Amino acid sequence: MLTPDDLRQLADLVAPERAFLTVYLDHGDDPSVLESRFSRIRSLLADQPAELEHFDQSLALARQLLESNTPPADGALAIFSSWGADLARAFPLPVPVGTRAWMGDAPFVRPVYELLDEHDTFAVAVVDSTRARVFLVTAEGGSQEASVRGDLKNKVKKGGWSQKRYARRREKEMEGYATDIASALKDLRDESGFSRLVLLGADETVLAVRDALPTDLLDVLVATESAATDGAEAELTAQAAALAEDAEREGERQLWEEIREQGLSGALSAFGPTFVLAALTTARAEAILLDREVEIAGTKCRACESVVHGTPETCQTCGSSDVFRIDLAEHLTEQAARTGATVDFADPFDALTEAGGVAALLRY
Ligand SMILES: [Zn+2]
Repeated sequence: MLTPDDLRQLADLVAPERAFLTVYLDHGDDPSVLESRFSRIRSLLADQPAELEHFDQSLALARQLLESNTPPADGALAIFSSWGADLARAFPLPVPVGTRAWMGDAPFVRPVYELLDEHDTFAVAVVDSTRARVFLVTAEGGSQEASVRGDLKNKVKKGGWSQKRYARRREKEMEGYATDIASALKDLRDESGFSRLVLLGADETVLAVRDALPTDLLDVLVATESAATDGAEAELTAQAAALAEDAEREGERQLWEEIREQGLSGALSAFGPTFVLAALTTARAEAILLDREVEIAGTKCRACESVVHGTPETCQTCGSSDVFRIDLAEHLTEQAARTGATVDFADPFDALTEAGGVAALLRY
């Protein structure tokens, strides 16, 4: 599976001309369906001999990878090749992303970015007073990573002094147990870097664990909910996945609210492709909200490598007419990866569409 580190390395690659071939092949699609796409790219590049050579040579590299790799069941294969940049890598992806081939000035990473955004790894702790199970849920599925035993005794019916002493002792035990669970979660976070946490189970234990969480874990806690802890793993992780999904949508709404608030006070926000591009080019963007369906045209100059929103016939920086069209939504995603800005892919909504499909929160 492609890791965020791999992605960052791929996003760092960029050329002044179209020198990168990207191929996505979904499981179940015959690789021959790519041939018509390859022919189309060839004819589009017919008047650019240098780029045509980049394509033919990069295609030869991609073909070798297509022969030696197959998409995983229910997933897809991503291939990035560039003869000029000495790149030839194949990655299995856990879900289909749409079979396609693309030739551009950089590896085409947006489908994988979107996939990682939507399938962020999250942890689920299923807790009650006798035991805690911790599952890690990735795009590939869930697996149990830790188990903590509590075995706290349930209340016994006694009155007076012994009842109070019993209650105090149980409270202490609960605290200790909750701390053990929090510590297991912390270890797992250090190891796997999960980005969201969901707590499920018996309310009393859920609350105790929440109280025991250190700040960095509280920051990634997106939901707590009652659940029958003897349930099947698949049911519990599905319940947690639905909560994490809601949290993702809520996060997008919050990001939009924050961008809008900043926009109202005329400060740290940018709306629309032109301004978001400018902010990203100077590494000022912190978080991007991008309509997952938007298509934005851009133009890049082969002479000075400057990129603009829109489709001018000549470069607005150096005046050269040696320019080519680029997919600006893809360029914005790559530029975000290069400068450490996050990208949230949102379903289209009116206000974002009016803003041109993209908006950003700025660092300064
Ligand atoms: Zn130029």
